[in-house]
Amino acid sequence: MAPRDLLDMTGRVALVTGAGTGLGARFCVALAEHGAAVAAVARRADKVESVAAAIRAQGGKAIAVSGDVTDPASIKQAFDAAEQAFGTVDAVVANAGIAIPGRAVETSDADWRAVMATNLDGVFFTGREAAQRLLAAGKPGAIVNIASILSYGVTKGTASYAVSKAAVAQVTQAMAYELAFKGIRVNAIAPGYVITDINRDYLTSEKGQTMLRDIPVGRFGEEQDLDGALLLLLSDAGRFMTGTVVTVDGGHRIGLRGV
Ligand code: NAD
Repeated sequence: MAPRDLLDMTGRVALVTGAGTGLGARFCVALAEHGAAVAAVARRADKVESVAAAIRAQGGKAIAVSGDVTDPASIKQAFDAAEQAFGTVDAVVANAGIAIPGRAVETSDADWRAVMATNLDGVFFTGREAAQRLLAAGKPGAIVNIASILSYGVTKGTASYAVSKAAVAQVTQAMAYELAFKGIRVNAIAPGYVITDINRDYLTSEKGQTMLRDIPVGRFGEEQDLDGALLLLLSDAGRFMTGTVVTVDGGHRIGLRGV
């Protein structure tokens, strides 16, 4: 393959969880623009139909699919729908995630479980389903899990989120190690702070703005800042990469006061 075609996703079938908003919606667009057929998954298919419709309006291939990542049966149904429309899913983005801020000592049982159920169980269930189907079909594929710079460090008030994202990095390594010999690659992206619905209020508040001092490039991320890493890890460009967590954070992590 010529170097200029390395990021091409033509003929690939992508499934993106949590695709109704923010990074997930952007990932769907980026993948479709590079030729992939995309199944955009959200808990309610009607919430994600606009993402799929916008891709189709640009000449791309996309469907909206309902799927709750905390429920393995629901994930199976989402993969069934994607497979029926486009064939075996061979490019997966386990993106769905939630944050419930709060100091560790004040975190309720229910909040702890909710964060683990979505961010950790959801990533594991999604990757497991994808891998089982690829193995059954005898096909190669690539999975990208969305971690965080809080996979590596902590800030006050983020205990459940940071713990869940550290576990995402380890799920990535564990699955990569077991699946590499079958041609299934598993990697993760650890974004820094990218302005989306999950954090808009905070990052645009006065407190959030003071955090800018910790980001060497001097700005928060924008959704399209992750396109390059995503395409690298899912396409042939990343064919010798597995078990890696790629940090995309404007240098946030390297600062002494940063995470
Ligand atoms: P977002 O809130 O816009 O997106 C998260 C999506 O996940 C939402 O559409 C939500 O409906 C969906 N979701 C939640 N629970 C779900 C479930 N059980 N089943 C299916 N979908 C579910 O926020 P975002 O910033 O786009 O976050 C996307 C991912 O990126 C998350 O995993 C988040 O932790 C991670 N991340 C974001 C940032 C950032 O700064 N925005 C930084 C690091 C990591």
